Amino acid sequence: MNAPRPVDPLRFLGGYPPSTLDQVRELIAQGQLGDYLVRRYPDRHDVRNDGALYEHAMALKQRYLRNAPLLAKVAYDNRLQIDQRALGTLTAVSRVQGGQLKAKREIRVAALFRDAPAQMLQMIVVHELAHLKSREHDKAFYALCEHMLPDYHQVEFDTRLYLTWRALEAMDITAPNT
Ligand SMILES: [Zn+2]
Repeated sequence: MNAPRPVDPLRFLGGYPPSTLDQVRELIAQGQLGDYLVRRYPDRHDVRNDGALYEHAMALKQRYLRNAPLLAKVAYDNRLQIDQRALGTLTAVSRVQGGQLKAKREIRVAALFRDAPAQMLQMIVVHELAHLKSREHDKAFYALCEHMLPDYHQVEFDTRLYLTWRALEAMDITAPNT
């Protein structure tokens, strides 16, 4: 009788060093991961629907990436599977318009960020906006992310902690000692 293999709650943190993961395990074991996140990210956002999300993205684009290609659409997407590590996507859909081939660029953000700390939503949007300039996750790409959101790397890490926290919550093992 094999019990189903438990889902690894640290799966969102693939790529971070083992010493970092040990610290995360320690926070979880002490039941402090939620406290850490609430203390660091007390602010929710008001970007509740696709219209507000489009405006949020366009304001950032106007400020930092005025000359980047146009965005046709920015929307929350229930179908984005965050387990695949994609928290957001930028796609270019080619359509024929008036005899010309045009690429309509769309940003999609995983729907769970509708109800997430403000900086975390901004981190996702900034990441996808930066892909308007560069497809690769190279140095220039991350420099642009940091330019649009100082502390980008910290917020990305904390967003992965947040996903870990939500996964643990769903498994009801956030505070093993209570
Ligand atoms: Zn990316």
